[in-house]
Amino acid sequence: MMGPDGFPDRYQSVMTMSEDQVERSVANMRNAIPLMTRYGLSVTPRNYAVWYEYVSGENGDLREALDRYIKAEQPIDDELCDRLYLRFVSGVDETRLATVQAEIRRLVEELRDAIVAAGGDASHFEEVLARHHSLLSHERGMESLLEVIDNLSSETGQMRSSGARFHEALDRQLEEVESLRRELEEAKRAADTDFLTGLANRKVFDGVLRQLIAEAGAGGVFSLLMVDIDHFKQFNDTHGHLIGDKVLVVVAGNLRKAVKGSDLVARYGGEEFAVLLPETDYRGGMVVAEHIRGLMERSRLVRSGSREEIAPLRVSVGVALFRSGDRPEGLIERADRALYRAKAAGRNRVVGELDPAA
Ligand code: GH3
Ligand code: MG
Ligand code: MG
Repeated sequence: MMGPDGFPDRYQSVMTMSEDQVERSVANMRNAIPLMTRYGLSVTPRNYAVWYEYVSGENGDLREALDRYIKAEQPIDDELCDRLYLRFVSGVDETRLATVQAEIRRLVEELRDAIVAAGGDASHFEEVLARHHSLLSHERGMESLLEVIDNLSSETGQMRSSGARFHEALDRQLEEVESLRRELEEAKRAADTDFLTGLANRKVFDGVLRQLIAEAGAGGVFSLLMVDIDHFKQFNDTHGHLIGDKVLVVVAGNLRKAVKGSDLVARYGGEEFAVLLPETDYRGGMVVAEHIRGLMERSRLVRSGSREEIAPLRVSVGVALFRSGDRPEGLIERADRALYRAKAAGRNRVVGELDPAA
């Protein structure tokens, strides 16, 4: 049997049965699918995302826009959903994205459970068999016997076809949801990444710094490096912005090479980078900074065709150590001041906040 929303009844009953325990995500899904079916929309990840957001009620702008279309009785089709997706869903802010993503993941798990729960259908079928079996244990007239066999065969056929439909629908749904989840994960990754260098962006840096401060509390140790390319403007002025961009990519690669997995390298701004070194004291920070400076100095920037050297690559680095009670701005300011002193002292050098003034 198909329910009013085009999904088999059995599917509905699985959803209704578990209504008390299931997470909000399943409720949202149960509300989204019938709406999509009412408007004859296909169950694509995008459409699904739009209606999921719509019924969750947390995307006010999307809800308002869609409600306007519904009220005006304007056609609601795949194309409209696509536009709404691009406008209101794909650009959702990061926290919202993370919430949707977590909900979708939960939804996928819930749906997997639902497939297991569908095993209940088989036991229903067993019941039918058992009932017929006991009917057959009594003597029956020919007519009655034919009726039983008839019943049995139609029950089996129904069980098979609706069972198959059920699983297909569920499988399809899972695929869609999985691909939606991948899409959202990709969107989130893009929102965390600096487009040019592939490093973490400023927003991620701010978050990680806040987290490190919270974790460090009174006794924790970590250090911060601010790395700024020397005379970067000259790369742009002499060779053009494209070469300038490539230099930024090379610098990013060197920074990645210079640190270990638990460290965070972020593009802080234009040609300035920030490196967070957890569990690294001042001396350790100075060592990594010097390593970075040396790595840049040894890199050769050459034109891809002629192999002719473009210009030497140099950076200056400021180093600061977290102090208990530090706020993010305070720590950044000390690293910045050290960086400024490195510039003033002639560039291509590392200055730590504790270095005596020259
Ligand atoms: P200093 O040694 O004092 O750091 O000098 P500088 O030339 O590196 O610093 P300045 O702040 O004078 O110039 C930074 C330049 O970086 C200016 C800006 O146009 C350029 N810049 C910032 N972001 C990008 C980018 O994404 N691509 C390119 N090509 N250039 C950028
Ligand atoms: Mg610079
Ligand atoms: Mg700068």
